[in-house]
Amino acid sequence: MLNRRQFVFVAAGTAALSRIPQVFGAAPAKYDLLIKGGRVIDPSRKINAIQDVAISGGRIGAVQANIAGDAAETIDARGKLVVPGLIDIHTHAGRLPEGPKLILGDGVTGFIDAGSQGADRITEVVNVVKSAPQPGRVLINIGRAGILPEGDTMDIKRADVTAAREAIMQNRDIIAGVKARLSRDVAGMNDYEVLRRAQEVASSFNLPVMIHMGQTISPLSKLFPLLKRGDVVTHMFAPPPNSIIDDNDHILPEVLEARRRGVWFDLGNGRTGHLRWDVAERILKANFLPDTFSTDWSIEARTTQVFDFPNVMSKFLMLGMPLDKVIACATANASRTFKIFNGRGTLNVGAPADVAVLELREGNFEFVDNFENKRTGRQRLFPVATVLAGKKVASHT
Ligand SMILES: [Zn+2]
Repeated sequence: MLNRRQFVFVAAGTAALSRIPQVFGAAPAKYDLLIKGGRVIDPSRKINAIQDVAISGGRIGAVQANIAGDAAETIDARGKLVVPGLIDIHTHAGRLPEGPKLILGDGVTGFIDAGSQGADRITEVVNVVKSAPQPGRVLINIGRAGILPEGDTMDIKRADVTAAREAIMQNRDIIAGVKARLSRDVAGMNDYEVLRRAQEVASSFNLPVMIHMGQTISPLSKLFPLLKRGDVVTHMFAPPPNSIIDDNDHILPEVLEARRRGVWFDLGNGRTGHLRWDVAERILKANFLPDTFSTDWSIEARTTQVFDFPNVMSKFLMLGMPLDKVIACATANASRTFKIFNGRGTLNVGAPADVAVLELREGNFEFVDNFENKRTGRQRLFPVATVLAGKKVASHT
């Protein structure tokens, strides 16, 4: 006869074989990584609550309060925000080899290099993006010499359809669209023809076009009809001439029409001519909210105006956008713009485990627009930790 204690032991050893290692404390951890006690904000599922995020095998395993079970590694996120990894659809991170790694430390787990290079030197940026730690894609500048101080397509011959097509054919896996910069100091009188050629290239591959709007010579009523579903308008808050809002605070009909047919509107913070507080305020007040935020990041922008993606997002907290909407512009909304991001920008169970841990600090923070206008905000988001494909990466703050 077994006594009671022996019986329990035998039962554990036969009926629950799979649990034996745990009984003896030698089990592998249930999760690879556990992010504990943070405020989870996941607009893709309308979640805003104190929860844990458990990760295993590079995927989100569970998101709920007080997740039990051990983990190989834990991030204490109490007092912090836990959001899907940030997606920045307008950067120039491909211009330098360390670019992608630098923005990864800011919480950016997916990015687009938007037109840093054209056909002539596209392999330079393609190679940087290919070796990036996080998923990234390239938009090819329709100007074959890329970004030029004298203007990418001031000489219309540089908008070379054949050269761009060949470059895309050789890099189909990395080039995800065409960039057309249309400002008067970039394209001059050629803005319409440059956009027409960009669409000609894109249509051969069924790719989107991103236009850089603002201070164009042609009015938007001439340019916007060329935009198709899935295209992106960046620098949407650019001041006149040819802003998206008129002097009577009405959003232009061609702008509303473009949004109705599925054109995305993106911030594109940058440093010159794109963002002015009063214009942004009027556009937000007209209830024309951005679909996506982006930094227009470059190494130069790292020390002025832009700094990092969470700082750019903070400007819109200052302008009165609710936190959930601000997070959505950098996550769920951005995940819909380019195919590579589909299924990302979410903490859904089973999704790739890309996570940004941010801190929302209260205080007085100075923000500067592209015209040296300073404003003080009461909150600023700071990057604290980044998780990419389930692994914590080095952060620089
Ligand atoms: Zn740019």
